[in-house]
Amino acid sequence: MSTLRTPRELVDNGLIAPEGLAGIERVAERYAIAISPAMADLIDKADPSDPIALQFVPQTAELATTPEEREDPIGDLAHSPVEGIVHRYPDRVLLKAVHVCPVYCRFCFRREMVGPQGLGTLIPDALDRAFAYIAEHSEIWEVILTGGDPLVLSPRRLSELMQRLAAIDHVKIVRFHTRVPVVEPERVDESLIAALKASGKTTYVALHANHPRELTPAARKACARLVDSGIVMLSQSVLLKGINDHPETLAALMRALVETRIKPYYLHHPDLAPGTSHFRLSLEEGRALVAGLRGRISGLCQPTYVLDIPGGYGKAVIAPDTVSERGGCYTISDFRGGEHAYPPQE
Ligand code: SF4
Repeated sequence: MSTLRTPRELVDNGLIAPEGLAGIERVAERYAIAISPAMADLIDKADPSDPIALQFVPQTAELATTPEEREDPIGDLAHSPVEGIVHRYPDRVLLKAVHVCPVYCRFCFRREMVGPQGLGTLIPDALDRAFAYIAEHSEIWEVILTGGDPLVLSPRRLSELMQRLAAIDHVKIVRFHTRVPVVEPERVDESLIAALKASGKTTYVALHANHPRELTPAARKACARLVDSGIVMLSQSVLLKGINDHPETLAALMRALVETRIKPYYLHHPDLAPGTSHFRLSLEEGRALVAGLRGRISGLCQPTYVLDIPGGYGKAVIAPDTVSERGGCYTISDFRGGEHAYPPQE
Protein backbone atom coordinates (compact mmCIF):
# COMPACT_ATOMS: atom_id res chain seq x y z
CA MET A 1 0.00 0.00 0.00
CA SER A 2 1.19 3.55 -0.67
CA THR A 3 0.13 6.78 1.04
CA LEU A 4 -3.58 7.51 0.53
CA ARG A 5 -4.05 10.98 -0.96
CA THR A 6 -7.46 11.22 -2.62
CA PRO A 7 -11.06 10.89 -1.42
CA ARG A 8 -11.53 8.04 -3.92
CA GLU A 9 -8.62 6.13 -2.31
CA LEU A 10 -10.23 6.66 1.10
CA VAL A 11 -13.47 5.13 -0.21
CA ASP A 12 -11.61 2.23 -1.85
CA ASN A 13 -9.84 1.48 1.44
CA GLY A 14 -13.02 1.61 3.52
CA LEU A 15 -12.05 4.79 5.38
CA ILE A 16 -15.05 6.82 4.21
CA ALA A 17 -18.46 5.64 3.03
CA PRO A 18 -19.14 5.96 -0.73
CA GLU A 19 -22.08 8.30 -0.01
CA GLY A 20 -19.66 10.65 1.79
CA LEU A 21 -17.38 11.02 -1.25
CA ALA A 22 -18.85 14.28 -2.62
CA GLY A 23 -18.51 16.06 0.75
CA ILE A 24 -14.92 14.90 1.25
CA GLU A 25 -14.03 16.01 -2.28
CA ARG A 26 -15.04 19.53 -1.24
CA VAL A 27 -12.76 19.27 1.80
CA ALA A 28 -9.93 18.02 -0.44
CA GLU A 29 -10.23 21.12 -2.65
CA ARG A 30 -9.17 23.20 0.35
CA TYR A 31 -6.99 21.00 2.58
CA ALA A 32 -4.41 18.35 1.72
CA ILE A 33 -4.99 14.67 2.51
CA ALA A 34 -2.30 12.07 3.22
CA ILE A 35 -2.55 8.92 5.32
CA SER A 36 0.64 6.87 5.44
CA PRO A 37 0.41 3.05 5.21
CA ALA A 38 1.40 2.71 8.89
CA MET A 39 -1.45 4.97 9.99
CA ALA A 40 -3.99 3.44 7.58
CA ASP A 41 -3.12 0.02 9.05
CA LEU A 42 -3.56 1.32 12.58
CA ILE A 43 -7.10 2.61 12.01
CA ASP A 44 -9.86 0.41 13.41
CA LYS A 45 -12.40 0.65 10.59
CA ALA A 46 -15.10 -0.94 12.76
CA ASP A 47 -14.92 1.97 15.22
CA PRO A 48 -16.59 5.17 13.95
CA SER A 49 -14.81 7.11 16.72
CA ASP A 50 -11.37 5.61 16.18
CA PRO A 51 -8.85 8.17 17.52
CA ILE A 52 -6.33 7.47 14.75
CA ALA A 53 -8.96 7.89 12.01
CA LEU A 54 -10.16 11.15 13.57
CA GLN A 55 -6.64 12.57 13.26
CA PHE A 56 -6.15 11.80 9.56
CA VAL A 57 -9.45 11.00 7.79
CA PRO A 58 -11.11 14.24 6.62
CA GLN A 59 -14.62 15.20 7.74
CA THR A 60 -17.05 17.72 6.27
CA ALA A 61 -16.95 19.55 9.63
CA GLU A 62 -13.69 21.06 8.30
CA LEU A 63 -15.73 23.17 5.90
CA ALA A 64 -17.20 25.15 8.82
CA THR A 65 -15.00 28.06 9.89
CA THR A 66 -15.86 29.90 13.11
CA PRO A 67 -15.36 33.68 13.54
CA GLU A 68 -12.41 33.33 15.93
CA GLU A 69 -10.45 31.02 13.59
CA ARG A 70 -7.63 32.43 11.46
CA GLU A 71 -5.37 31.30 8.63
CA ASP A 72 -2.18 32.00 10.61
CA PRO A 73 -3.37 31.09 14.12
CA ILE A 74 -0.06 31.42 15.94
CA GLY A 75 1.12 34.49 14.04
CA ASP A 76 4.14 33.06 12.20
CA LEU A 77 3.93 35.70 9.46
CA ALA A 78 4.21 38.59 11.92
CA HIS A 79 7.62 37.27 13.00
CA SER A 80 9.06 36.21 9.66
CA PRO A 81 11.94 38.55 8.76
CA VAL A 82 12.87 36.47 5.67
CA GLU A 83 11.05 33.63 3.94
CA GLY A 84 11.39 30.34 5.84
CA ILE A 85 12.43 31.93 9.17
CA VAL A 86 10.19 32.69 12.17
CA HIS A 87 12.06 34.70 14.84
CA ARG A 88 9.58 35.01 17.72
CA TYR A 89 11.87 34.54 20.73
CA PRO A 90 15.31 36.16 21.02
CA ASP A 91 17.57 33.09 21.17
CA ARG A 92 15.88 30.74 18.71
CA VAL A 93 14.33 30.62 15.26
CA LEU A 94 12.14 28.26 13.31
CA LEU A 95 13.59 27.22 9.96
CA LYS A 96 10.78 26.03 7.70
CA ALA A 97 12.67 24.46 4.81
CA VAL A 98 9.79 22.33 3.58
CA HIS A 99 5.99 22.50 3.81
CA VAL A 100 5.29 18.88 2.96
CA CYS A 101 4.29 16.22 5.52
CA PRO A 102 4.04 12.41 5.38
CA VAL A 103 0.48 12.72 6.76
CA TYR A 104 -1.88 15.69 6.95
CA CYS A 105 -3.38 16.05 10.41
CA ARG A 106 -6.94 17.36 10.27
CA PHE A 107 -6.32 19.78 13.18
CA CYS A 108 -2.99 21.13 11.86
CA PHE A 109 -2.14 24.66 13.03
CA ARG A 110 -0.34 25.36 9.71
CA ARG A 111 -2.95 23.74 7.48
CA GLU A 112 -3.10 26.79 5.19
CA MET A 113 0.67 26.54 4.56
CA VAL A 114 1.35 22.80 4.26
CA GLY A 115 0.47 20.35 1.50
CA PRO A 116 0.83 20.26 -2.27
CA GLN A 117 -1.00 23.62 -2.59
CA GLY A 118 0.98 25.06 0.31
CA LEU A 119 4.27 26.96 0.38
CA GLY A 120 6.36 24.08 -1.02
CA THR A 121 10.08 23.74 -0.38
CA LEU A 122 12.31 26.79 -0.06
CA ILE A 123 14.07 27.53 -3.34
CA PRO A 124 17.89 27.67 -3.06
CA ASP A 125 18.01 31.50 -3.04
CA ALA A 126 15.46 31.69 -0.23
CA LEU A 127 17.38 29.05 1.71
CA ASP A 128 20.57 31.10 1.26
CA ARG A 129 18.79 34.16 2.66
CA ALA A 130 17.48 32.13 5.62
CA PHE A 131 20.99 30.85 6.46
CA ALA A 132 22.42 34.35 6.03
CA TYR A 133 19.86 35.63 8.56
CA ILE A 134 20.85 32.94 11.08
CA ALA A 135 24.56 33.65 10.54
CA GLU A 136 24.06 37.42 10.98
CA HIS A 137 22.15 37.05 14.28
CA SER A 138 24.63 35.92 16.90
CA GLU A 139 21.88 35.70 19.54
CA ILE A 140 20.44 32.62 17.80
CA TRP A 141 21.46 29.67 19.98
CA GLU A 142 18.88 27.16 18.73
CA VAL A 143 17.45 26.41 15.28
CA ILE A 144 14.18 24.48 15.17
CA LEU A 145 13.54 22.72 11.86
CA THR A 146 9.84 22.43 11.35
CA GLY A 147 7.45 23.05 8.53
CA GLY A 148 6.01 20.81 7.23
CA ASP A 149 7.95 17.84 8.48
CA PRO A 150 11.71 18.19 7.90
CA LEU A 151 12.23 14.43 8.09
CA VAL A 152 10.53 14.00 4.71
CA LEU A 153 13.73 15.43 3.20
CA SER A 154 16.27 12.94 1.92
CA PRO A 155 19.30 12.19 4.11
CA ARG A 156 21.42 14.04 1.54
CA ARG A 157 19.30 17.23 1.86
CA LEU A 158 19.16 16.95 5.65
CA SER A 159 22.89 16.49 5.80
CA GLU A 160 23.42 19.61 3.68
CA LEU A 161 21.22 21.62 6.07
CA MET A 162 23.12 20.30 9.08
CA GLN A 163 26.50 21.05 7.51
CA ARG A 164 25.41 24.63 6.86
CA LEU A 165 24.28 24.97 10.48
CA ALA A 166 27.55 23.35 11.65
CA ALA A 167 29.41 26.24 10.02
CA ILE A 168 27.61 28.80 12.23
CA ASP A 169 29.43 28.90 15.56
CA HIS A 170 26.75 30.57 17.68
CA VAL A 171 24.14 27.88 16.84
CA LYS A 172 24.57 25.18 19.46
CA ILE A 173 21.27 23.26 19.36
CA VAL A 174 19.36 21.92 16.36
CA ARG A 175 15.87 20.64 17.05
CA PHE A 176 13.72 18.71 14.57
CA HIS A 177 9.93 18.64 14.96
CA THR A 178 8.55 15.54 13.29
CA ARG A 179 5.85 12.92 13.08
CA VAL A 180 7.98 10.56 10.92
CA PRO A 181 9.08 8.03 13.62
CA VAL A 182 5.36 7.32 14.26
CA VAL A 183 3.82 7.64 10.79
CA GLU A 184 6.70 6.34 8.63
CA PRO A 185 8.98 4.52 11.07
CA GLU A 186 10.78 2.70 8.25
CA ARG A 187 12.32 6.02 7.17
CA VAL A 188 14.37 6.21 10.37
CA ASP A 189 17.40 4.27 9.18
CA GLU A 190 21.13 4.71 9.67
CA SER A 191 21.55 7.21 6.84
CA LEU A 192 18.74 9.44 8.11
CA ILE A 193 20.06 9.33 11.68
CA ALA A 194 23.60 10.16 10.52
CA ALA A 195 22.21 13.13 8.56
CA LEU A 196 20.64 14.62 11.72
CA LYS A 197 23.99 15.02 13.44
CA ALA A 198 26.78 17.51 12.92
CA SER A 199 30.04 18.09 14.68
CA GLY A 200 29.78 20.59 17.54
CA LYS A 201 25.97 20.68 17.56
CA THR A 202 23.53 18.91 19.86
CA THR A 203 20.52 17.40 18.10
CA TYR A 204 17.08 17.11 19.68
CA VAL A 205 14.12 15.41 18.01
CA ALA A 206 10.64 16.41 19.21
CA LEU A 207 8.13 13.74 18.26
CA HIS A 208 4.52 14.72 17.61
CA ALA A 209 2.20 11.99 18.95
CA ASN A 210 -1.33 12.32 20.33
CA HIS A 211 -2.58 8.86 21.22
CA PRO A 212 -0.89 5.90 22.96
CA ARG A 213 -1.72 3.58 20.04
CA GLU A 214 0.64 5.63 17.85
CA LEU A 215 3.55 4.18 19.82
CA THR A 216 3.46 0.90 17.87
CA PRO A 217 6.35 -1.59 18.12
CA ALA A 218 7.73 -0.19 14.83
CA ALA A 219 7.49 3.40 16.11
CA ARG A 220 9.18 2.44 19.40
CA LYS A 221 12.02 0.78 17.46
CA ALA A 222 12.48 3.86 15.27
CA CYS A 223 12.68 6.06 18.39
CA ALA A 224 15.08 3.60 20.04
CA ARG A 225 17.40 3.91 17.03
CA LEU A 226 17.40 7.70 17.40
CA VAL A 227 17.98 7.63 21.16
CA ASP A 228 20.65 4.91 20.94
CA SER A 229 22.53 7.14 18.49
CA GLY A 230 22.78 9.87 21.14
CA ILE A 231 19.92 12.08 19.99
CA VAL A 232 17.74 13.43 22.80
CA MET A 233 14.00 12.97 22.24
CA LEU A 234 11.13 15.10 23.50
CA SER A 235 7.46 14.94 22.65
CA GLN A 236 4.72 17.34 21.79
CA SER A 237 1.05 16.45 21.74
CA VAL A 238 -2.11 18.37 21.00
CA LEU A 239 -5.07 18.07 23.35
CA LEU A 240 -7.89 17.02 21.01
CA LYS A 241 -11.57 16.41 21.62
CA GLY A 242 -12.52 12.80 20.86
CA ILE A 243 -8.87 11.72 20.54
CA ASN A 244 -7.08 12.15 23.85
CA ASP A 245 -9.40 14.24 26.06
CA HIS A 246 -9.56 11.65 28.82
CA PRO A 247 -7.19 11.33 31.81
CA GLU A 248 -6.57 7.60 31.19
CA THR A 249 -5.69 8.21 27.51
CA LEU A 250 -3.36 11.09 28.34
CA ALA A 251 -1.74 9.06 31.13
CA ALA A 252 -1.22 6.07 28.80
CA LEU A 253 0.25 8.36 26.10
CA MET A 254 2.71 10.04 28.46
CA ARG A 255 3.75 6.72 30.01
CA ALA A 256 4.27 5.17 26.55
CA LEU A 257 6.50 8.11 25.61
CA VAL A 258 8.60 7.84 28.78
CA GLU A 259 8.92 4.06 28.31
CA THR A 260 10.27 4.87 24.82
CA ARG A 261 12.86 7.23 26.42
CA ILE A 262 11.04 10.34 25.20
CA LYS A 263 10.50 13.12 27.73
CA PRO A 264 6.99 14.61 27.43
CA TYR A 265 7.54 18.28 26.69
CA TYR A 266 4.48 20.22 25.50
CA LEU A 267 0.77 19.43 25.56
CA HIS A 268 -0.68 22.09 23.26
CA HIS A 269 -4.12 23.54 23.59
CA PRO A 270 -5.45 23.32 20.00
CA ASP A 271 -4.89 26.44 17.91
CA LEU A 272 -7.61 28.46 16.19
CA ALA A 273 -6.91 26.95 12.76
CA PRO A 274 -9.74 27.16 10.20
CA GLY A 275 -12.26 24.32 10.25
CA THR A 276 -10.98 22.72 13.46
CA SER A 277 -13.60 23.74 16.04
CA HIS A 278 -14.80 20.12 16.33
CA PHE A 279 -11.41 19.27 17.92
CA ARG A 280 -11.29 22.10 20.45
CA LEU A 281 -12.01 21.89 24.16
CA SER A 282 -12.44 24.92 26.39
CA LEU A 283 -9.44 26.08 28.39
CA GLU A 284 -11.30 25.09 31.57
CA GLU A 285 -11.80 21.54 30.27
CA GLY A 286 -8.13 21.37 29.33
CA ARG A 287 -7.06 22.66 32.70
CA ALA A 288 -9.20 20.09 34.51
CA LEU A 289 -7.71 17.27 32.43
CA VAL A 290 -4.15 18.38 33.11
CA ALA A 291 -4.91 18.81 36.82
CA GLY A 292 -6.14 15.19 36.74
CA LEU A 293 -2.68 14.05 35.63
CA ARG A 294 -1.06 15.38 38.80
CA GLY A 295 -0.64 12.53 41.23
CA ARG A 296 -1.96 10.04 38.68
CA ILE A 297 1.33 9.72 36.75
CA SER A 298 4.99 10.17 37.60
CA GLY A 299 6.57 13.61 37.40
CA LEU A 300 8.66 12.20 34.53
CA CYS A 301 5.45 11.87 32.51
CA GLN A 302 4.07 15.39 33.11
CA PRO A 303 3.97 17.60 30.01
CA THR A 304 3.70 21.38 30.19
CA TYR A 305 0.24 22.50 29.06
CA VAL A 306 0.63 25.52 26.77
CA LEU A 307 -1.37 27.81 24.56
CA ASP A 308 0.11 29.70 21.63
CA ILE A 309 -1.38 33.15 22.08
CA PRO A 310 -3.14 34.10 18.81
CA GLY A 311 -1.37 36.89 16.95
CA GLY A 312 2.19 35.66 17.45
CA TYR A 313 2.75 36.61 21.10
CA GLY A 314 4.32 33.24 21.91
CA LYS A 315 3.46 30.42 24.26
CA ALA A 316 1.78 30.82 27.64
CA VAL A 317 1.78 28.06 30.25
CA ILE A 318 -1.76 27.18 31.31
CA ALA A 319 -1.02 26.03 34.83
CA PRO A 320 -3.59 24.26 36.98
CA ASP A 321 -5.12 26.64 39.48
CA THR A 322 -3.22 25.38 42.55
CA VAL A 323 -2.24 28.57 44.38
CA SER A 324 -4.38 31.43 45.69
CA GLU A 325 -3.41 34.34 47.91
CA ARG A 326 -5.34 36.41 50.40
CA GLY A 327 -3.85 38.96 52.81
CA GLY A 328 -0.32 37.65 52.34
CA CYS A 329 -1.30 34.01 53.04
CA TYR A 330 -1.24 31.39 50.31
CA THR A 331 -3.54 28.42 49.92
CA ILE A 332 -2.06 25.52 47.96
CA SER A 333 -4.19 22.68 46.55
CA ASP A 334 -2.78 19.14 46.51
CA PHE A 335 -3.54 16.63 43.76
CA ARG A 336 -6.52 15.21 45.73
CA GLY A 337 -8.12 18.65 46.00
CA GLY A 338 -7.08 19.15 49.66
CA GLU A 339 -6.15 22.73 50.62
CA HIS A 340 -3.13 23.72 52.72
CA ALA A 341 -1.96 27.07 54.06
CA TYR A 342 1.54 28.19 53.10
CA PRO A 343 3.45 28.81 55.27
CA PRO A 344 1.58 26.37 57.54
CA GLN A 345 -0.52 28.11 60.23
CA GLU A 346 0.20 26.43 63.59
S1 SF4 B 1 2.73 16.76 10.63
FE1 SF4 B 1 2.66 18.75 11.73
S2 SF4 B 1 2.79 20.34 10.13
FE2 SF4 B 1 2.24 18.37 9.12
S3 SF4 B 1 0.01 18.32 9.02
FE3 SF4 B 1 0.56 17.29 10.94
S4 SF4 B 1 0.53 18.93 12.50
FE4 SF4 B 1 0.60 19.93 10.47
